Amino acid sequence: MPGKSKGGGLEAGPGRADGHPVEKVYFRCQRCAKCCRWPGFVRVTNDEITAIARYLGIDEDAFIQQYTRLRPGRDGLALVDKPNGECFFLDGNACTLQPVKPGQCRDFPNGWNFPGWRDVCEAIPIKMP
Ligand code: SF4
Ligand code: SF4
Repeated sequence: MPGKSKGGGLEAGPGRADGHPVEKVYFRCQRCAKCCRWPGFVRVTNDEITAIARYLGIDEDAFIQQYTRLRPGRDGLALVDKPNGECFFLDGNACTLQPVKPGQCRDFPNGWNFPGWRDVCEAIPIKMP
């Protein structure tokens, strides 16, 4: 299972084959932080690394050395985890990187999700006008 706002494939939205319009739904996060505790990888881009290092007030190379790890496939970097498996930057149920958290975190579950995500995420569906 992908985790921690941690990467995975986008699940297809509800489709209708009968020609009726598809209801638009936005999922409102309840800040349960479960997605920060799932196993997986929180991808960080170069721009995100720059922003996070600046936010933390530390050198970019030092941030990379201390707080990132190679992703499987060696195709980029991810944030490190705590020994208990949750994201290193989770404090209680709060993200200590909130203003600069990676897009992967910001975009879940509306921008991307995975089959079965509704079973493990407490976001509430809000009907869009
Ligand atoms: S409601 Fe869903 S998206 Fe929000 S913190 Fe919980 S698991 Fe993450
Ligand atoms: S960076 Fe923040 S939002 Fe993303 S997994 Fe870590 S604690 Fe959660």
